[in-house]
Amino acid sequence: MVAWLRGTASGGDAALFAAARATLERRIDRRVRMRGLLEFSNLCTCECRYCGIRSSVPVARFTLSENEIVSAAVACRDAGFGSMTLQSGERRDSVFVEFVERCLRRIKRETKTSELPNGLGITLCVGEQTSDTYARWLDAGAHRYLLRVETSDADLFARLHPRHQRFDRRVRALTTLKALGYQLGTGVMIGLPGQTEEQLARDIQFFRDINADMIGMGPYLEAPGCPADLRPDRGVSERLLLSLRMIAATRITLGDVNIASTTALQAISPTGREAGLAAGANVLMPIVTPSDHRSAYQLYAGKPCVDEDTATCVACTPARAMRAGRPVLWNAWGDAPHAKGGPK
Ligand code: SF4
Repeated sequence: MVAWLRGTASGGDAALFAAARATLERRIDRRVRMRGLLEFSNLCTCECRYCGIRSSVPVARFTLSENEIVSAAVACRDAGFGSMTLQSGERRDSVFVEFVERCLRRIKRETKTSELPNGLGITLCVGEQTSDTYARWLDAGAHRYLLRVETSDADLFARLHPRHQRFDRRVRALTTLKALGYQLGTGVMIGLPGQTEEQLARDIQFFRDINADMIGMGPYLEAPGCPADLRPDRGVSERLLLSLRMIAATRITLGDVNIASTTALQAISPTGREAGLAAGANVLMPIVTPSDHRSAYQLYAGKPCVDEDTATCVACTPARAMRAGRPVLWNAWGDAPHAKGGPK
């Protein structure tokens, strides 16, 4: 795996990416799954040191209304996406927990069609919560949960977070989510300062050992006001290539999981997401956040699609897949075969 990540394996990157595509076709299929990505609130109680919306950053804070969230869900359904991801900063207060629960129940109720008899498939990406909260939201209709570990190296994790944000608690949260019955997503940042190919290879082993169903990862990108010790020590092209190698190595190692080609890849290269698909990814996440809030949800500098609106992203993202020669899976949840046994 380390040779793949260094580009020194026999056949080089071309052979690696071809093997990843062959694994995808054998274990799943070539169709790209769409998840409308709604960044519904940038309020956050955490202080992840790399993040552009951490609690101490003086960015204008917003939370969409219940009606705005349901409208965005209906737009995803009407676009034929079949699934959406609800993402926000991390809050554990009861107002937030109840708000998310209400939104989930309404989305499930109001997005049913003959093709989606159980409404949209919903992935939650709202950070570490109590086990009771996870169970409540599962009952309300979320069936996937994305919680990035960011790195499986405890020392590197400690450099990225304040002391009270603990690695062992993050891992425990992932285990709890899986045990409760969620389809589990996780991922890492690629090209962190000081991060080695050996650590990244261990990240892939971590994904396998935690029994992840979905992987969302991308290049590490600096946020405005990034602390000096977190400035990237690899160039952007190197981080892009390393990210593509990580996607391919993860595909070959895990086989039947869903892997996202993330927007962060496009921040480095205009066709970064297409390159992610060619390296073995099978999920794209068109942003459906209302355009007037996009600039206030920038986890890193140079985020693409900030000036676009929902209609543009809804049309552009599937077109990117098709231009890359990949069919799109329409009007279906598009769960990973790895997650079979969970809700369909
Ligand atoms: S990475 Fe997520 S949890 Fe951490 S500060 Fe940013 S929004 Fe909050």
